[in-house]
Amino acid sequence: MESQDSAVKTSEQQSKASAAEAEAATPMKPKNSHLCCLCNQRRAALKRPKTLQQICTDCFYDVFEDGIHRVIVNNQLFKPGERIAIGASGGKGEVKNKSSLSLSHNSVFVPADSTVLAYVLSELDKWHNYGLDLFLLSVDEGITGYRDDSLETVKRNELLYGVPLKIVSYKDLYG
Ligand SMILES: [Zn+2]
Repeated sequence: MESQDSAVKTSEQQSKASAAEAEAATPMKPKNSHLCCLCNQRRAALKRPKTLQQICTDCFYDVFEDGIHRVIVNNQLFKPGERIAIGASGGKGEVKNKSSLSLSHNSVFVPADSTVLAYVLSELDKWHNYGLDLFLLSVDEGITGYRDDSLETVKRNELLYGVPLKIVSYKDLYG
């Protein structure tokens, strides 16, 4: 569920992180052949809603990740050594072969909210040495055919990103 799709810290920090995460780019029509206005080398593939800049996918990932990094640093969201739970719903996304996407940083990308957050936080933690103790946290409400499927996605994310997974279940908590 969407309510799990955020890093578990304070609600204020949560909303800041979510705001940084929430930039949804508008894909451009295929016939458009403008060059990316940031690198001036590759073809623009989307328009940023924030700035209306027409940019390529590589530059989009760069500005997206840089934007999140700036939010984290400017708001001092984390301290080194902190244990941070990333709420992981298992979402609606699917695993894409990285060769089908022109991504920087040679990583696999899964377009689901909680998965994007897990990916971006774990990568930024590595690149910028935040020193965080990250883990994925999922709640199993015991809904057969729904939560059991999404937990499989979360388990794949655990392997993909090397972030340990903790699952807490209603059954264990409440019997
Ligand atoms: Zn570009």
